Amino acid sequence: MKVITIPILSDNYSYLIIDKNNKSCSAIDPASPEEIIPILEKNKFDLKNILNTHYHSDHTAGNLDLKKKYKCKIFGPEKEKNQIPGIDFTLKENDVLELEDYNAKIIETPGHTAGHIIYWFEKEKVVFTGDTLFVLGCGRLFEGTPEIMWDSILKIRNLPKETQIYCGHEYTKNNADFALTVEKNNNKLIKRFDEINKLINKNSFTVPTTVEKEIETNPFLRADNNNIKKNLGMDTASTIEIFGEIRKRKDNF
Ligand code: ZN
Ligand code: FE
Repeated sequence: MKVITIPILSDNYSYLIIDKNNKSCSAIDPASPEEIIPILEKNKFDLKNILNTHYHSDHTAGNLDLKKKYKCKIFGPEKEKNQIPGIDFTLKENDVLELEDYNAKIIETPGHTAGHIIYWFEKEKVVFTGDTLFVLGCGRLFEGTPEIMWDSILKIRNLPKETQIYCGHEYTKNNADFALTVEKNNNKLIKRFDEINKLINKNSFTVPTTVEKEIETNPFLRADNNNIKKNLGMDTASTIEIFGEIRKRKDNF
């Protein structure tokens, strides 16, 4: 599956999924038409579908202008249908969205927003995680508890290890700095920290990541890991308490 990564706004990522005919495509969270349209025009892509992960405007602000120009269909979470501009079709847990050439399974991942969904292309081993999971980080808990978000994170952690993760923001530098404060004795994290800094110094994208890499190094997927428990001095705490503590520390980082 051909995916084009488009950095938009200050630190968002939008993505184009290109159909096999190399003429039509679907866009994930194309919030900034002025940055998306030139790429569509240059490649002569017809935009067929917009797939929204959640209602925040840095993900949905392009919906109406793009729909007007391309007559595309807009998909988004059932639970946020009243907040998503121009929505045509709503999606919920276990729905299968059939695009031109690819099928996405819908996974509900509440926590950042109450209705947040992610798009899992099982056959192609690709997932678009919006603001639920970032490279070495996770979304802020605007509309959920640590317990709710941990459940959502587990749904991603349980996907096949080689699954490629495309997330909604480039927060990787700050996330990597923070991850080291939680687990400076994780050798895989130390190695990855160097790799990430090299990418950032070259102005390269840090996406996609993989489920396997995040399991090894992302503190938010490791709240039940003994090394993290020890590092935080929370040996007797529950996983949810530890997850909540990591999230709180990151909010104040
Ligand atoms: Zn958001
Ligand atoms: Fe966002």
